[in-house]
Amino acid sequence: MIKTHSELQSTQRWVVKIGSALITEDGQGLDLARLAAWVDQLADLIASGKEIVVVSSGAVAEGMTRMGWSKRPQALHDLQAAAAIGQMGLVQAWESEFKRRGLHTAQVLLTHDDLSNRKRYLNARGTLRSLVSLGVVPVVNENDVVANDELRFGDNDSLAALVANLIEADLVVLLTDQQGMFDADPRHNSDAKLISVAQANAKELDAVAGDGGSLGRGGMATKLRAARLAGRSGAATVIAAGREESVLARLSKGEQLGTLLLAQEEADDARKRWLAGHLQVKGSLVLDAGAVKVLQSSGSSLLAVGVSDVSGQFIRGELVSCIDAQGVEIARGLVNYSADEARKIQGKPSSEIAALLGYVDEPELIDRDNLVVL
Ligand code: GLU
Repeated sequence: MIKTHSELQSTQRWVVKIGSALITEDGQGLDLARLAAWVDQLADLIASGKEIVVVSSGAVAEGMTRMGWSKRPQALHDLQAAAAIGQMGLVQAWESEFKRRGLHTAQVLLTHDDLSNRKRYLNARGTLRSLVSLGVVPVVNENDVVANDELRFGDNDSLAALVANLIEADLVVLLTDQQGMFDADPRHNSDAKLISVAQANAKELDAVAGDGGSLGRGGMATKLRAARLAGRSGAATVIAAGREESVLARLSKGEQLGTLLLAQEEADDARKRWLAGHLQVKGSLVLDAGAVKVLQSSGSSLLAVGVSDVSGQFIRGELVSCIDAQGVEIARGLVNYSADEARKIQGKPSSEIAALLGYVDEPELIDRDNLVVL
């Protein structure tokens, strides 16, 4: 688990979030030169074997620039219109810069609803993982057009954390227009010192991050909240200055930049605790002796072929219990198929799923990453 900046060298999967003020040069239109510099660093990281997801804000700001609006619109529908207009410029910029480096990008627009609904959660997770494993760079933003005002992620700090939870990232990098988090407000206190490393959950940070009101959308309070959220799946968070020369490359070499906020637990433990404790069990799968053995000894995924009976009613993404023939609980996991579908494919090899159901969501009934062996 990450405890120091130098350990960032060994991290594999990064979510890099870039805020509106930074990407649009404080609302002056997209800062293409800086965007190109980030892309060069990210492309180098990908070439060195890292997996990168970009979370980019700036749609509203860019939309306002395109429409010549100097004031942020009051009405939600105007804000949403600005986001729709600006998103075009945003993806265009990311796409053409990554293309220059021989990389494909993919637009991913998400809302809160998508991540709280288990079925959509699994779909988003599957798509993002697929993109990353294909070497494509997902460029994620909030789907502002359909989000309600109260439910908006705002400037995407918490969206970046949720994406980190979704893909089990090791690190979230929140690039901002400040150096990091200070122990007092640097605008009013010349003795304010940059916090280099802290536990994301440390109570003392509540006071220094403020309530977010004065710092506004995407201030330090939302960054702290995001770091705590990212920590729930074991990801560390760095808050760093996006205008700092080669900031991403230097972080990847372990340089002590910005504020590193640490997760409390190993990624696996955090996720498993979440899986086992926070969801309701909706049904059960009876495993044959072979499947029990495989699950307990090798930690692999559960395939339909190892299931001899299905009970209860559940839908894709819900939590089910895996029991042996005697009824002893062996594992719990998020199931990829509904109870009715599971009944149709139980005892059958994965290669027959397409013929039995007419489609294949996943070859596994429960993916190993969504499975907790008890
Ligand atoms: N998702 C929004 C964007 O990309 C957040 C920023 C805002 O609300 O101004 O523009």
